[in-house]
Amino acid sequence: MPSLTRIEAAGRASLLTVHHYRIALDLPTTGPEFGCDTTIRFGCATPGDSTFLDVQAAGIDSVVLNGVELAVETVAGVVDGRLRLSDLRADNELRITARMAYSSDGEGMHRHVDPADGLVYLYAMSFLDAGPRWFPCFDQPDLKAGYDLEVRCPAEWTVLGNGAATEVEPGFWRLATTRPLSTYFVTLVAGPYHSVRTVHDGVPLGLHARASLAAALDAEAADMLEVTRRFLDRYHDLFGIRYPFGEYHQAFVPDFNAGAMENPGCVTFRDQYVFRSAATSGERGVRAATIAHEMAHMWFGDLVTMRWWDDLWLNESFAEYLAYRVCSEVTDYPAWTDFGIQRKSWGHVADQSPSTHPVAGNGSDDAASALADFDGISYAKGASVLKQLAAHVGDDVFLGGLRSYFQRHSFGNAELADLIRAWTDAGAVDLDNWAVQWLRTTGLDTLTAQLTDTEVTVTRTSPDDSHRPHTVRVAAYDGAGALITERPVALDGIPVSMPVSGPVRLAVPDSADDTWAKIRFGGGDWAPVAELLPRIANPLTRVVLHNSIRDAVRDADLDPAAALDMLLDAVPAETVQPVATAALQFATEQLAGPYAPPAERAPRRARIAGVARGLLAGAAAGSDAQLGAARAWIRACDAGEPLRHWLDGQDVPAGLVIDAELRWSLVIRLAALGELSGADIDAELDRDKCTSGVLHATRARAGLPTAGAKAAAWRMLVEPSDVPAYELYATAAGFFDARRPDLTDPYVARFFDEMPATARHRHGWALAHVVLAAFPSAAASPDVLTLADVAIARPGLDPAVRRSFVDGADPLRRAIASLNRYGGVPKP
Ligand SMILES: [Zn+2]
Repeated sequence: MPSLTRIEAAGRASLLTVHHYRIALDLPTTGPEFGCDTTIRFGCATPGDSTFLDVQAAGIDSVVLNGVELAVETVAGVVDGRLRLSDLRADNELRITARMAYSSDGEGMHRHVDPADGLVYLYAMSFLDAGPRWFPCFDQPDLKAGYDLEVRCPAEWTVLGNGAATEVEPGFWRLATTRPLSTYFVTLVAGPYHSVRTVHDGVPLGLHARASLAAALDAEAADMLEVTRRFLDRYHDLFGIRYPFGEYHQAFVPDFNAGAMENPGCVTFRDQYVFRSAATSGERGVRAATIAHEMAHMWFGDLVTMRWWDDLWLNESFAEYLAYRVCSEVTDYPAWTDFGIQRKSWGHVADQSPSTHPVAGNGSDDAASALADFDGISYAKGASVLKQLAAHVGDDVFLGGLRSYFQRHSFGNAELADLIRAWTDAGAVDLDNWAVQWLRTTGLDTLTAQLTDTEVTVTRTSPDDSHRPHTVRVAAYDGAGALITERPVALDGIPVSMPVSGPVRLAVPDSADDTWAKIRFGGGDWAPVAELLPRIANPLTRVVLHNSIRDAVRDADLDPAAALDMLLDAVPAETVQPVATAALQFATEQLAGPYAPPAERAPRRARIAGVARGLLAGAAAGSDAQLGAARAWIRACDAGEPLRHWLDGQDVPAGLVIDAELRWSLVIRLAALGELSGADIDAELDRDKCTSGVLHATRARAGLPTAGAKAAAWRMLVEPSDVPAYELYATAAGFFDARRPDLTDPYVARFFDEMPATARHRHGWALAHVVLAAFPSAAASPDVLTLADVAIARPGLDPAVRRSFVDGADPLRRAIASLNRYGGVPKP
């Protein structure tokens, strides 16, 4: 299926003005298809001209253009999802009656059967170019139109969409006419969903989840609605334009590929956010940030939309920056700490990979290639850059520019230049140059602190010849970790010195975690970091040090064994639970994984498990710290017996509940250790027959160390099927295991030989996700890297597969460089 090119989109936008869509859907619960009757009214600037409509139907029954039925041959001639429309008039009406296919990959009209009760749930995901999989349309962001939807479905269903839904008669719903919408955020949610509704400041609010999650939704609703109300109030203050899309529904739907999708009036979220087992405050904070992110999109992205996908940063970077900003302003969740420890690390990896790209104007020649750039750069780096910009121009100018940008382009489209103009009009100076330096370049600068007895000097070095200015704070600490001084510093090409009094043990550039850079310490001396990381009071400064340690390991600047010592010493003193969790996760997955010589892996895991047990012993009953330590211990533990005891309810620390999710963590671990059989996994699934249970069981089965289990999992990964994409991801995540090379080594070469062909039967998220999640990175061997490099160089590789190969190979290359430098000699 060819992807719409930028040139085609520009041509179609100059020809057409789309006025309105009327879509009538007939949604049965059984069978592979549903009915879709669409009428589109649109204008054409040059009558007599022709264009094409995007439609990916299972079958088209009739097409009537301006009262004339198109010939059967024309309809049959829909090639690659494009229906040719000729001899257009100045004003046109097109009616197309079609049968569309339900999907199982989370795009188009996704159909999910809940294993808990057999009930059917639907939702439509149009992003990025999946709209034509459920309704015929002119699918590009800058052809906006109003929508009217009608839905026929079982009488017991609830229907939600971009416009307020009304049940006209049992099983027949009509949705209110929408404001102008881009095709990519038109949605529909339908099924026996359970709902919680309220109204805030005149805006009807709704939360929705599958009936089997009703109790969990009810229990979590208070927290979700409270942050929703606070964010709505805050955005009204910041943006000066009220929420423009009527009702605001948040639907938690199954098998959702992204965290969430910002459909105006009806945001869809992955339903793992409706916690059915114990969750930490940190996890509620992540959910709050996602709620804030999607709501920010109602203005950035939905009210004003990028003209083409190369400006997707206008959507994502702003939503990301504003989410963490308002979360830190109006909730108690430690939003910027979470951003630093989770999101920045994701972005740092992306920005140093061969697949890096500029924040803005990434040059997406077609829609499909843009999907690959929804990564840590468009989100985390973009948000950091905007935080820098707000510091650089001041908040009044920053917000003033945004407000006029919204005013000027409401319900329309815009580009980077429009935003620069709005900020310049609000008083910003020389923004074009700032934009070139920060938005059109790739890679991270390094900020290095040098110490003498009387001063701290901070130097900026760039990986290229760009000149990114940094507005940061620099902190100096004494040998006990007490803050001696912290000052603002504007860094450009010239090193900046600040005088200090007293003996400084450690100076930290960007101590408030405000910029986008790697942080290093003069002379490469990590001893002060190791000493002071557990003692520094400011959690953001600790996050900066954690990211520096992780960056330095990946750069082979720091011995992974030394990094492990630092992290394991720091974790017992860490008061911010998500930071402790991230440190233990990095230790387990990286420092005791690809960054460890094979013989060192088990001993390192044993040390991590020991630290986790220590944390458990000291944690208060029922606390987040206890739950976090329990999960870390399960991940690192190689001994079957104590894990099995927990599963049997023995030796469980007081206050820790071995609930459904924790049980599955134990089952997955025990299965990978060869301590459980397939029958044991089936028995566990019988205990917990639900959507999550099916996924966990799938993951556990893929991890079983038997030739039969690996063969079955492999077939699932490479063969065409209608297995839900989530089950493929679970299988991919459990497949390769460095501890049993005898079982998985034969599949390494097959991975590079057979995965490219999956592009014939998978696309979009599912294609790229499966390849990356299954990438054989566990082994960290030069042989695997050679196979990867050969595969990447192969001509004709699907771009999504190539991107996943590149992103899988880069961490492998880094781990091998580290092993080469620091050798296999274990530290005492
Ligand atoms: Zn977003």
